[in-house]
This record gives sequence, C-alpha cells and structure tokens, in this order.
Amino acid sequence: MASVAPTLQKYLALDQKGFVQAEYIWIDGINELRSKTKTLDKVPASVADLPDWNFDGSSTEQAPGHDSDVLLVPAAIFADPFRGGSNILVLCETYNPDGTPNATNYRHHCKKVMETYAETHPWFGIEQEYTLFQQDGRTPLGWPKGGFPGPQGPYYCGVGTNKVFGRDIVEAHYRACLYAGVNISGVNAEVMPGQWEFQVGPCEGIDMGDHLWIARYLLNRVAEDFAIVVSLNPKPIPGDWNGAGCHTNFSTAAMREEGGIKAIEDAIKKMSLKHMDHIAVYGEDNDKRLTGRHETGHISQFSYGVANRGASIRIPRHVAKEGKGYLEDRRPASNIDPYRRPMSAAALHRYLEQT
Ligand code: ADP
Ligand code: MN
Ligand code: MN
Ligand code: MN
Ligand code: MN
Repeated sequence: MASVAPTLQKYLALDQKGFVQAEYIWIDGINELRSKTKTLDKVPASVADLPDWNFDGSSTEQAPGHDSDVLLVPAAIFADPFRGGSNILVLCETYNPDGTPNATNYRHHCKKVMETYAETHPWFGIEQEYTLFQQDGRTPLGWPKGGFPGPQGPYYCGVGTNKVFGRDIVEAHYRACLYAGVNISGVNAEVMPGQWEFQVGPCEGIDMGDHLWIARYLLNRVAEDFAIVVSLNPKPIPGDWNGAGCHTNFSTAAMREEGGIKAIEDAIKKMSLKHMDHIAVYGEDNDKRLTGRHETGHISQFSYGVANRGASIRIPRHVAKEGKGYLEDRRPASNIDPYRRPMSAAALHRYLEQT
C-alpha cells in the first residue's frame, strides 16, 4: 500500500492557500488514460473558466516527434476524491495544433451525434466488468500463483472468504465515484474470481462516456493505493473462465413510453443489419470473448431474445412484460471506447482526411 502511508497525510493536511489543483485527464493513442496536474488560482464555475493545456503527443502515440504538441481542451469537471476540498478532475478532449480533433478524439464526433439526436433523449446504462491482478500483472486476485482456483460457481455476487477477492478496492472505488459526481448505479462480484462489475447510468447523451471514463480513472487510481493492477482485457484468462464485457443498456424516450416495445424491436432490426460494423468498434480481442459460451452470443452471428444471456441483444424479462423500457447490447467488450461509433468506408476516409 503505497500512498496511504500516514507520512503523506501530514503534507496533504497543509493549507493550499486558495489554489486549486486540477487533474487534466485524457485518453491516449492506445485507449489508456493519462493525466497531469495544473494549478489554478481560483475555483472554476464551469469548463469555460478552465484554460486549455497541452502535452507531448509523441509520448502517448498521438503525434509525431517532430510536431508533438497536442492540445488539451477541458470537456467535463468532476470532484477530486483523492485531493478533496475544491480540487477537481477535468476530463479533456485532444486537438491538433491546427484545431482539428486528434485522430484518437472520438468524443468530439460522439458529442455531435448526441446533440443531433438530443430530442430522442438517449439513455445509456453501462455495465463495466474488469479483473483485478496482483502487481505481477499475471495472477488474478484470489488465484494461487501459477495455478487455478476452484471452478466458477460460488464467486458471482459471492459472500465470504475464498469466494470474493478485492472487496476493499470495490468499496473505495464506489465511494470515490459518489464523491466525484459519477452516476454509479451499483457494483457486483463477477462469475470469474477476481472479476468485478460496476454500472454507470442511466446517463443521457455524452455523459455516458464521460462518466464511464472517469469511473475507470478512479478505479485505476484507487487500485494504485492497494498496489493492484486493473485489467480491461476482455478475456483475461483463456479457457473455462468468463470474459469481461461492457453490456450497454439503451433506451430512447419512445422506448420508455407506453407501447415502447415496438420502438425497441425496430431498433433491434436496424442493429441486426449493422452487426459487423458494430463489432468493429466494440473493443480489441472481443473475438476471444464472444464465443457463444460463457453467457455470450457468437461474434459472427447477430441474435436477440427475451431474458437470453446467450444472445447479442437481450430484452430484459420485465421489459417484455411491461411492453416498454430498454434493450441490452451484450456485445461490447470491457475495453470499449464508449465514444466510438461505426463508420462507413466513405465516412472513415473523410474522417482520416480531416484529421
Ligand atoms: P444485468 O441484469 O444485465 O446485470 P445491471 O443491473 O448490471 O443489469 O445493469 C443495468 C443497467 O441498465 C444499469 O446501469 C441501469 O442504470 C441501466 N438502465 C436501467 N434502465 C435503463 C433505461 N431505461 N435505459 C438505459 N439504461 C437503463
Ligand atoms: Mn518535460
Ligand atoms: Mn450487470
Ligand atoms: Mn456482469
Ligand atoms: Mn448485463
């Protein structure tokens, strides 16, 4: 346990003299988080009060070395549970020196889509599964070094020693999310020992990605204090062990209204025509997870069903019964960038030209 030492508390108790520490957070070129700190001389009222900043994009796979400056543009503010007080976390978008969005800035495009369809009031509830590893990065929590625990069964929502591993991290993360203002809706222990899930949502529009990414940031920071590694690998252990997904529950206002099941079925029909386009942006190594086993639908085939956890899309039992609500897309892998969307070849070409 590195940074929870009492020695540190002595310094953290010192007066900040009215200055604010702002942790600027961004997504790098390989879908990992980065952050660095800036001192502000007053508390910002909104993102409009926050200065842009920059970083060395050649160190994050976001720019070439000979033209390495990438701009950080503040997009959303959260409270900082680590520093407390008026200190903040600032989720940023990344831009090139000529003002175009960096090729890895998927939020820029997602925000436009969300604005275009704002009147449909899209809600997202994302179930983030993840695996905790010992500092060696190879041994999941609760697993014997180089060996295996007993088979899956007692671990899902488990209670008691030898059934759940890492509860302290989960509890610390849950409270950190509530403090930060992340719309976390719950947590549970997963089927594979050492694997957990938290849910964010329902979030409307672009908030879904912002809240998911900040929740991931908080999880990684909390895990630092315990010297534990967080993995979003969709199939962290090959074989008869569950993979990790990011089930995405989705609804529009029309789906939530009386008789909304019709809108849900219409959406599923449209989704069925774009299956492989969706899979293309649903995370790396998802083929290792979507095998048609371990509560997944097969990657090469679109399917849906009421209460079916072996389908691509599940309509929850209570939704079918009430005739309204939402659908669950079970395909996204744990390592998705939630801002990404499928693009036609032509759109992708235009996009690459522009960035
Ligand atoms: P599961 O039964 O698949 O494990 P969870 O309870 O883990 O489901 O997650 C369900 C998620 O769906 C939660 O994040 C919740 O906030 C979200 N949700 C609930 N209602 C809606 C809705 N109408 N639209 C979108 N998401 C919703
Ligand atoms: Mn330097
Ligand atoms: Mn769940
Ligand atoms: Mn789950
Ligand atoms: Mn689910």
